[in-house]
Amino acid sequence: MRINKIKGTIDFFGYEVEKYRYIEKVCVDIAKKFGYSEVITPIFEATDVFVRSVGESSDIVNKEMYTFTDRGNRSLTLRPEGTAPMMRMFVENKLYVNPGLAKYYYFGPIFRYERPQKGRYHQFTQFGVETYGLENPLLDADVINLACKIMNALGIENVKVCLNTLGSKEARNAYVPALKEYFAPHLEEMCADCKVRFEKNPLRMLDCKADANTEIMNNVPKISDYLTEEDKAYFEELKNALDILGIKYEVSDKLVRGLDYYSNDVFELIYDNPDSAINGLTLCAGGRYNDMGRDFDGPDVKAVGFAFGVERMMMALDELGIKVPDSSKDKVTVITLGKPVKKVGLKLVDYLRSNGIPAEIDYQSDNLKPQFKLAERIKARYIIIIGEDEVASNMMTIKDTWKQVEVKIKVNELNEYFEIEGANKYAY
Ligand code: AMP
Repeated sequence: MRINKIKGTIDFFGYEVEKYRYIEKVCVDIAKKFGYSEVITPIFEATDVFVRSVGESSDIVNKEMYTFTDRGNRSLTLRPEGTAPMMRMFVENKLYVNPGLAKYYYFGPIFRYERPQKGRYHQFTQFGVETYGLENPLLDADVINLACKIMNALGIENVKVCLNTLGSKEARNAYVPALKEYFAPHLEEMCADCKVRFEKNPLRMLDCKADANTEIMNNVPKISDYLTEEDKAYFEELKNALDILGIKYEVSDKLVRGLDYYSNDVFELIYDNPDSAINGLTLCAGGRYNDMGRDFDGPDVKAVGFAFGVERMMMALDELGIKVPDSSKDKVTVITLGKPVKKVGLKLVDYLRSNGIPAEIDYQSDNLKPQFKLAERIKARYIIIIGEDEVASNMMTIKDTWKQVEVKIKVNELNEYFEIEGANKYAY
């Protein structure tokens, strides 16, 4: 029987890889401009990294983790999100001793056992950022700004920024009992997951997909009525900073996010075009979380961050018909005439590559047709043709297929033609 890839995973090849790497490049370039540096953490962690921080009432920990026991009888988990490993890394390496705000980004695979569907995979990729060491609404606004700048740079303009605040612990300590009191008489009418959330984390009932838009959900008490004066001032400052940065947003009081660790502001960037098949798809999600450092026996670390789903950004590019630029430099194919010249061609290809120019040769064929086919297949801009006559007279013919011009040059003019720097002139 043929073995196929696991459902909910993707093979990338051809243009899909171009798209994937282009998104990575755009994210990284912009994050670096904002002062972020890269962190690479392992793809698996001790299971406790997620249980302690993401929370036992979250869907992720409850039912979506790829957890296994290794040969040393340890419980390990393929990372189902990036924030907890980053905090584990920050605390374990005592990076909090460095002064100032720490700003990190990561890019890599994430694993969740969710029901596969369009935009929802078992293995997908996140580009995420985390900042540690500061609680300030201007920072939170600038983190949202970074996410918007990435969207703009990719040309994904149909994006709605949804924003909410979950307030401080104090506000939630008042709000959660009010929520419980409200939901208690309605529990029988609600979905099975909500019955569990009612016990473990009633806040999570607000973002229930099954019970959304029901009478019960529409009349639910609002967190905004429970915020402290300080919470309100923080949220106002954040909105004000977003206004100054020219970022449009919608405040959505049902936005709570599926992970337990958030406090204060939470946000999502949502694809917004009612005529599109991916309308409502969340491309990016994040918020502030101030208590996670303690989950790793570290100090109090004030933190804010977000994560983008890369495959979903790819879907958005496709949806908008945006083609990413070809990342490859102008390629060369060397075409040879006559068997003895093949090796001369190989040496020429090697010289070009050594000088940073992508070059290929048909190893097999002496006929012109298959050699031109190769040039076509690899989309070569330049075609260099050498035959025995050229070798004898130290010449070569170069065709620039973009400019549609053909020139015959001396071999020792090759460096000038391709702007290769270096004193050594090429010779056959
Ligand atoms: P989260 O870690 O759940 O806040 O998700 C952050 C982002 O990752 C989401 O906004 C999505 O773009 C993406 N994402 C989450 N789950 C999946 C999944 N199963 N498949 C593909 N992308 C996902």
